[in-house]
Amino acid sequence: MNDNPPLDIVIAGGGTAGWMAAATLARFLGDHASITLVESDAIGTVGVGEATIPQIHNLLVGLGIDQAEFVDATEATFKLGIEFDGWLREGESYIHSFGTTGRGAGLIPFRQLWLRGRKIGVAESFGAYGLNVVAARKGRFAFGKDANLPYAFHFDASKVAVVLRRYAEERGVKRYEGKISSVTRDAATGDIAALVLDGDRRIEGNLFIDCTGFASLLLGKSLGVGFEDWSHWLPCDTALAVQSENVAPPPPFTRSIARPAGWQWRIPLQHRTGNGHVFCSAYMEQDEAARVLLENLDGKPLTDPRAIRFTTGHRREHWSHNCIALGLAAGFMEPLESTSIHLVQSALARLLNLLPNDLSNLSTARSMFNRLSGAEWERIRDFLVLHYVANDRRGEPFWDHCRQIELPDTLAEKIALFEESGLFVREDDELFLDDSWGQVMLGQGIDPRGYSPLADNVPGEDIGPFLASVAKAARVKAEAMPTHAEALQSLVGERARA
Ligand SMILES: Cc1cc2nc3c(=O)[nH]c(=O)nc-3n(C[C@H](O)[C@H](O)[C@H](O)COP(=O)(O)OP(=O)(O)OC[C@H]3O[C@@H](n4cnc5c(N)ncnc54)[C@H](O)[C@@H]3O)c2cc1C
Repeated sequence: MNDNPPLDIVIAGGGTAGWMAAATLARFLGDHASITLVESDAIGTVGVGEATIPQIHNLLVGLGIDQAEFVDATEATFKLGIEFDGWLREGESYIHSFGTTGRGAGLIPFRQLWLRGRKIGVAESFGAYGLNVVAARKGRFAFGKDANLPYAFHFDASKVAVVLRRYAEERGVKRYEGKISSVTRDAATGDIAALVLDGDRRIEGNLFIDCTGFASLLLGKSLGVGFEDWSHWLPCDTALAVQSENVAPPPPFTRSIARPAGWQWRIPLQHRTGNGHVFCSAYMEQDEAARVLLENLDGKPLTDPRAIRFTTGHRREHWSHNCIALGLAAGFMEPLESTSIHLVQSALARLLNLLPNDLSNLSTARSMFNRLSGAEWERIRDFLVLHYVANDRRGEPFWDHCRQIELPDTLAEKIALFEESGLFVREDDELFLDDSWGQVMLGQGIDPRGYSPLADNVPGEDIGPFLASVAKAARVKAEAMPTHAEALQSLVGERARA
């Protein structure tokens, strides 16, 4: 225990970001912090955000939440990757799966062996060598080290908030219900001093976490931190969300289906499917977008389509004065690769790593936090932009426009390196690894002209049998797995029996 006064943390907002922050800070700061969360039932939450990436396990493990309990409580299903349907052109699809594709030989990466195999005409499609892809296509799933299937969850966001709220409250987090009507700042330092609820109740603190969603009440409105607009790179600006009935057992992957002015998501849960249409309003009217969505549901709609307007980009600083923004209050990138919840998680980890002992000297922590957060967001942005710019949907004005988008330099360099010999170099601890970039580059039709000379270290006659053995191993292993529904039942059923 240090000598400084305890942290008085006030979290504004009780969506996924707010309750993730409350649960994580309560778990890791323990008695060193008193934590208060303010939320408004009248305003509510954004109510979407149901697909994750495998890093979500770090949250469960860090909090000590049992997986079976979590899957049961949140109606979750397992996710092996995302199917991108029609993104290159109508009728073609690929899966961006978690984990690695194939296996390299010594220092020679698998993709290089595959490129060489393709050149000599002995290779199947890249996805045929990925266990996650093959299992996803067959609707199979299994747990455990031997299964070697990295996975994430699809879950019901409102139920996740309930789980996290209970966890946080059990660890002493105080919750206030009410509308924040103003934010008081210290006249000398400009720091936030208190939130005023409904014009009278005052909630004071020394560290504030802005989780107020798109409103960004503290960081954006009160502290006046500007917004860096990325809509010239990612022009979609509206989402319509609707829930529908399940008509078949849920598949173990998210679907992202290209539409004339954007794309549609399908996120299968145990009890329903989450659907949405993300589109660019400059190319499609909302009524038309709603029609496209409703005509392309698998099951009967359970709700009316709800419109959510957004501008892609982020706050120029994620931490200003004594306030850190998380979630939508920090910025927004469309859910094409399910990265927003992860960004909340990684920002919380960064905050815990940088939080100084003495709150009177935040400047170093703040500037490192802002630099690292900025780099993390930019690399994800580049990955999302890649999906749009490398399309071959010719003759559709939105997609034609996307092919003309001027690339961020960082992305242009990555594409150039890949086009040359299928190479990729990871920078700045970026979230997506070589395998993810490789799958999406190939899936979007970026075709390397050659391959690395490393791949010539394997005798030509060995390439075909090697590739065939990798593809066969993936097929045999996937076929031996239970179906996704059986795997779910075994986990949730076990819990019911316990
Ligand atoms: C269309 C869409 C699809 C998405 N899909 C995914 C996905 O698949 N995967 C993923 O990782 N992420 C996804 N996201 C992002 C994800 O939904 C958010 O990152 C996540 O839900 C966190 O939201 P939030 O808590 O920041 O905001 P919100 O859920 O909007 O919560 C804001 C909170 O602030 C409170 N509040 C606001 N103003 C006040 C006030 N004046 N007084 C008191 N309280 C106030 C509200 O009541 C609420 O509790 C998606 C987002 C959108 C828009």
